Amino acid sequence: MRFTPQDEEFRAQVREWLEANLTGPFAGLRGTGGPGREHQRHAERLAWNQHLAAAGWTCLGWPAEHGGRGATLEQQVIFHEEYARAAAPARVSIVGEELLGPTLIAFGTAEQQQRFLPPIKAVAELWCQGYSEPGAGSDLAAVATRAGLQGAEWVITGQKVWTSLAHLADWCFVLARTESGSQRQTGLSYLLVPMRQPGVTVRPIRQLTGTSEFNEVFFDGARTAAANVVGEPGDGWRIAKATLAIERGAAMLGQQVGFRRELENLINLARRTGAGTDPLLRDKLARARAGLEVIRDYALDTLGGNDDAEASVLKILWSRWHSDLGELAMEINGASSLVTRGEPYDLDDWQRLFLFSRADTIYGGSDEIQLNIIASRALGLPRSGNS
Ligand SMILES: Cc1cc2nc3c(=O)[nH]c(=O)nc-3n(C[C@H](O)[C@H](O)[C@H](O)COP(=O)(O)OP(=O)(O)OC[C@H]3O[C@@H](n4cnc5c(N)ncnc54)[C@H](O)[C@@H]3O)c2cc1C
Repeated sequence: MRFTPQDEEFRAQVREWLEANLTGPFAGLRGTGGPGREHQRHAERLAWNQHLAAAGWTCLGWPAEHGGRGATLEQQVIFHEEYARAAAPARVSIVGEELLGPTLIAFGTAEQQQRFLPPIKAVAELWCQGYSEPGAGSDLAAVATRAGLQGAEWVITGQKVWTSLAHLADWCFVLARTESGSQRQTGLSYLLVPMRQPGVTVRPIRQLTGTSEFNEVFFDGARTAAANVVGEPGDGWRIAKATLAIERGAAMLGQQVGFRRELENLINLARRTGAGTDPLLRDKLARARAGLEVIRDYALDTLGGNDDAEASVLKILWSRWHSDLGELAMEINGASSLVTRGEPYDLDDWQRLFLFSRADTIYGGSDEIQLNIIASRALGLPRSGNS
């Protein structure tokens, strides 16, 4: 990926807009939200996200006919990099904007696109992703949530788990078994289900960080219109996989700007506390710096491609790097890492980083699953008994 002079002009435009707008009521939002901190200032971040939308800074990569900017991949990377560099608040609309929206653009009917895309773009409706179940995580084809047509509606029964931000979502895209007796990848459908109805119960799960960002979601005769199926009934596996492929998008580069800031803060801490004189910690910090350069180069080289093994290599590189950084932060903080500042469970940023980054090697496909993909698709190794 190479940035042209026009791209650099675009970068200046994004930077200026963020500087001019992260002021007034939004000034205090810098650095809020994101993994482990989604509970922070949600209402204000929603208002900020709607402000971004009104200025045309949401859904950049969507084609213009669907309300996007039709931005190039380079421009999307630039936007996310500048957004992270300004420490702008984590957006609340990511699941709709980056997962469901592109899926509907690729596979939705014209009616579905007209109904669902404008409120995603305007940040008027928030979405969550209902794939994982207690018995179906890495092995997603084991999905057991059932749905059947009754008159003009799908009626859905089953349980999802680890559903991020379901407690704040208006809608959920649900992978459900719609052909009774069907096995594995067949007979599944991709349904769009309203969350605020009597048949849906959301129970937050308390995480290591003490906060609740994901949930158990129970569907007990929940309903959605017959037309709210993306693709044909029974074709849900194909659509669900396409959403997963979209998940590895340009926003990844913004995430790395955040990683860089965390590393720089940690280096500054090591300078201040004297930990930076310890030869082993110096080595680890230097390795972290080198690792980050590798991740960025690899991401820029492979972004926009559709090679599963490359995506898996990148996931492993960044997830391990980030969870290692959490451990290094604990080492540099020394004994004080073991103590919380106040009650109840008042974590500092380093403790939160250490605890939440345990999740990096799990969500979006665990490291072991990524290794299986690399082994079979990139190395051509035969499948093992359990891969
Ligand atoms: C922070 C966070 C947010 C999430 N948000 C969402 C969300 O919004 N929506 C959603 O649907 N899901 C979400 N998930 C769920 C996530 O997709 C699953 O946790 C993930 O797919 C792993 O599934 P599992 O937890 O059932 O673990 P399991 O699949 O039970 O795996 C347990 C362990 O066994 C290993 N393992 C499993 N199969 C194999 C194999 N074949 N070979 C080698 N090792 C294997 C795994 O690597 C793991 O270490 C989220 C998870 C986290 C941590």
